[in-house]
Amino acid sequence: MEAFLSNRIRPDTDGTTRPFLLGCARRTVTNAGENAAMSTLEIHQIPTRVDNYVYLVRESSSGQAAVVDPSDAPPVFEALDTLGWTLTHVLATHHHNDHIGGVPEIKERTGCTVVGPRADRDRIPGIDIEVGDGDTYRLYEAEARVFDVPGHTRGHIAYWFPESKALFCGDTLFALGCGRVFEGTHEQMWNSISKFKPLPDETMVYCAHEYTQSNARFAVTVEPDNADLAAYAAEIDRKRAAGQRTVPSELGLERRTNPFLRADVPDFAAALGMEGSTPVEIFSEVRTRKDNF
Ligand code: ZN
Ligand code: FE
Repeated sequence: MEAFLSNRIRPDTDGTTRPFLLGCARRTVTNAGENAAMSTLEIHQIPTRVDNYVYLVRESSSGQAAVVDPSDAPPVFEALDTLGWTLTHVLATHHHNDHIGGVPEIKERTGCTVVGPRADRDRIPGIDIEVGDGDTYRLYEAEARVFDVPGHTRGHIAYWFPESKALFCGDTLFALGCGRVFEGTHEQMWNSISKFKPLPDETMVYCAHEYTQSNARFAVTVEPDNADLAAYAAEIDRKRAAGQRTVPSELGLERRTNPFLRADVPDFAAALGMEGSTPVEIFSEVRTRKDNF
């Protein structure tokens, strides 16, 4: 029980905690001058398997919840029981078993609606609503923009909830890393993670794995003189030593430190001795080094 309660708060970098309720003021004025309700997501993180993260999100206007990338059904039901939340939707990012393994049982027991990538409809059983690049998907009042992010798998998608500043990116972008490129090309993967670059700095990256410490060990070999990265890596070591999670992370910090997001940064090219190379060439070099690290 205590573990579940502590899941609902996020330690801030200054060591304080605050309620894990993301979002903004309840009402806003639209361009048309009308009042429109804004929707917030309350996000609950469930660690599963060795290093997976599954996310329960409760939408404020409806009080109903969705689960993102349920690797397994039992920990999802346990968390729902503890929180007293009702599940009505699954949001899937890609077809790997550690992201959709729980979908059949969850769908059977709850009758929920499964949202997933149009491009992977044949590899994800039970999709009810197919979404793809540029689509807006509404979970009740919470609006998500959908990105196609091929590379890790060819059908991978990401969900960005702007009002809640939350990006659910599966195995595309990790804290200080990115997913292995199993089905696409390095160029595709670079283009995919580049879609996240325009998002606001304060966007929280809810990736699907706790890989951060090993990613940090690699990142400091690529850009040893990056002071932000050195500080971030030290903070990660401190958190892991204390048994804390390092996910989610803030996109602004990732932009300054994550080697896979920095392939188009001149300082980063210089650190690699690759001045004059294209971002794709630099991304590819870093991805290959990481694969062999
Ligand atoms: Zn995967
Ligand atoms: Fe995975």
